This record gives sequence, C-alpha cells and structure tokens, in this order.
Amino acid sequence: MDGFDFKSCGRIALVGGAFDPVHFGHLAAAQTVYENFDVDRVVLMPLGDAPHKSLSSTPAAERYEMVREAVRDNPALAVSDMEIRRGGKTYTVDTLRQIKDINPDMDIYFVMGADEFKAIDTWREPESLFSLCRVIAVSRPGYDTASLIKKTAEVKERYGGEASFLEVPSLDISSSDLRKRIRDGRSVKYLIPKEAEEYIIRHDLYKEG
Ligand code: ATP
Ligand code: MG
Repeated sequence: MDGFDFKSCGRIALVGGAFDPVHFGHLAAAQTVYENFDVDRVVLMPLGDAPHKSLSSTPAAERYEMVREAVRDNPALAVSDMEIRRGGKTYTVDTLRQIKDINPDMDIYFVMGADEFKAIDTWREPESLFSLCRVIAVSRPGYDTASLIKKTAEVKERYGGEASFLEVPSLDISSSDLRKRIRDGRSVKYLIPKEAEEYIIRHDLYKEG
C-alpha cells in the first residue's frame, strides 16, 4: 500500500466507506464533489478490517487495491490507507484529528451519501466532527432531497457545523447489491470500473458469504 500524503495539499474532500467493492456511484459522487467544490483532491478512504472478521467482509487490502486501481488514471481522485493502517474500529472524528495532526492547516470537507447523513446524530462526537470539517451531503436514489436539505439546516443549528447538499448523478448502485449479484452469478459489468471487475474475477471475490 502507498498512503496518500496529507501534507501534499491544502484542501481536500474525504469520502469514507467500506468500498466493498467500489462502484460508479462512489466515483460519480466523488467526481461531482471535485467539480463543485474548490478542493485539490477528493480522497477515498476505505475503512479498516473489523476486529472480529466476519466471513463476508473482504480484507481491507483487497478493497483498497480495487479503489486504487479505479482512481489511478484520474488526478482529481486519490485513495488513503489511513484507517486501514490504524486498524480495528475507527471513528471519523479520530481520522479528522489524525489528518489535522499531520497538516494543521488542512481544510477538510467530509462527504456522506444521503443514507449516512441521515444517521449523523448517531455518529461519535458530532460537535467535534463539525468543528474539524464541513460536511457535504450527496444525493442518493431512494432518499428524499427536501428532507436532506432540511437536515443540513438542522445540523447547523444543533452542532454549529456547516453542511451543504450536493446533487450527484442518480446511480442506483450499492455494494451490497453488487455482492449479491456476484454471489448469484450475475454480471456487474457497467456498474463498477473495469479494473475492479477484473480484480474481483482474478481474486475470486464475493462468491460466498
Ligand atoms: P453497502 O451497500 O455495503 O453499504 P454502499 O454502496 O453504501 O455499500 P459504502 O462503501 O457504504 O457503499 O459507501 C461509502 C459512501 O458513499 C457513503 O457515504 C455512501 O452513502 C456513499 N454512496 C454509496 N453509493 C452511493 C451512490 N450510489 N450514490 C451516492 N452516494 C453513494
Ligand atoms: Mg453503505
């Protein structure tokens, strides 16, 4: 693995997630963030392995590698292994602190899909989280835009933080559905980057579990 250097730029957007596997929903959202916010890079950060590994979760190194191959030809996007290196259960607020330790001047946007943003009140230390970053809530099929926008206003009031809504291409793709497709012997063509598809075939991933 080759980590992303957080000293190399001043303003990033961070997308956290399992990326099990990475798909065009993630990538189109990341690219749209890049085009709409003044950031140097959009950094995808796969979470680390669960402490008690379940059979169904793909090793972090493999999830990381698929993201790495998927973003390789796009200078707007990058991948970081920070949470994978830390291992175990990681909280976003700790990741943001770690980035600020490395680069105190770093301006951070944290990108969340509608499903994640809806649950923001259950996240660890939301006040601290909002003091360390600005949140971008991106649309996702099946989630109502109006209530999402309402929620951005609510968190402003509740946590004194900044959150904005961004409409991204509506791609009704999820990693859970992709895993099921592969298990069922169906194709994931045109839903995930070719590099990730080839990696899955090469390593025989998602066949069971
Ligand atoms: P799973 O079904 O396993 O939860 P997922 O497709 O939701 O997988 P994650 O790795 O959980 O993928 O998502 C990482 C981040 O990307 C989350 O903030 C999630 O909301 C967002 N995201 C995932 N898919 C989409 C999509 N199709 N459109 C917009 N945002 C997305
Ligand atoms: Mg998810």
